[in-house]
Amino acid sequence: MDRRLFLQVLGCGCISLGISSCSSVPITDRKQLKLIPESKLNAQAAQIYEKVKKKEKLSDDINQLNQIKEIGKKMENSISMYFDKSNIQDPTLGFDWEYILIDNKKVKNAWCMPGGKIAIYSGILEVTKNTDGLAAVMGHEIAHAVAKHSVERASRNVVINVATQITDVLSGGKLSTVNRTTGMNTVGLLTQIGIFNPFNRKQESEADYLGLIFSSLSGYDIRETVKIWERMKKAKKGKDPPQFMSTHPSPDNRIKKISDWTSEIVWQYPPIKSS
Ligand SMILES: [Zn+2]
Repeated sequence: MDRRLFLQVLGCGCISLGISSCSSVPITDRKQLKLIPESKLNAQAAQIYEKVKKKEKLSDDINQLNQIKEIGKKMENSISMYFDKSNIQDPTLGFDWEYILIDNKKVKNAWCMPGGKIAIYSGILEVTKNTDGLAAVMGHEIAHAVAKHSVERASRNVVINVATQITDVLSGGKLSTVNRTTGMNTVGLLTQIGIFNPFNRKQESEADYLGLIFSSLSGYDIRETVKIWERMKKAKKGKDPPQFMSTHPSPDNRIKKISDWTSEIVWQYPPIKSS
C-alpha cells in the first residue's frame, strides 16, 4: 500500500478498498473506518466469551445478576426503540445480548464485547454502588459496542499492520486462530479481542456521550454518572485500584464533559416508551 493511500485510509477519507469501508456512528455522525466485517468480529467475540464463561468463577448471587440483566434488557429495548422511532437502522440488529457476573471482588472492571456480550466483575459493584451507577457503567460499555468501536479499532490495526492482513482477515485466516487458543488464560483471550487495549480519546468520549443517552432513554438517573467517576478517582488511590481506570484514564476531563452534557441529555432524551 503506498503512503498516500495509507494516509487516506487512516484518516478515513472514505476511499474504496474494493469493499465498503466507511460509515458513520449513529447519533454522533462521526465518520469511521470499517474494513472488517462486523459479523466476523462478533463471531470471534462470542467464541471468546464462551471460553471466559468456562474459565472464570461466575457469581451465584442471583439477585445481583438479575439486576444486571434487568438494566441490560431495558437498554436493549430503549436503544432499539429509539433507532426505530428515529428511522435509523438499529445498530444492534445483529447482536446476541448476554450478561455474566464474574465473582472476583479484586477486579473492578466491566466490558462489553462486540455483538453485546457483557461481563461485570463483582469488584466494580463497590464503585457503582446503586442501580443508576451500574446503569452508567453498563451504558458506557454498551455504547462502545453500539458505536462499533472494536470494528473500527481492528480495521485501523489492519491498516497499520500491512495491507496483506486485510486479505487474511477477510478470508477468515486471522480470526480463525481463536479456535486454537483453548489453552490460553482469560487475560490472553481477552487481549485477543482487545478488551485490555484502551479505545482512543474520541471513542471514549463518544461512549460517555452515548452511554448517558442510553441510560437516560432507559429511565435511569444520569446525574449519578459524574458521581461514579468521582468514586473511580478515589478508588484509584485505594488498595485495589480499578482495572477500569487503566483503559479509562483522565477522569477530570470526563467529569467536566459529562457534567456539561447531563442536563441537555436529560431534556433531549427522556425515558422512551413503547407504542
Ligand atoms: Zn470506554
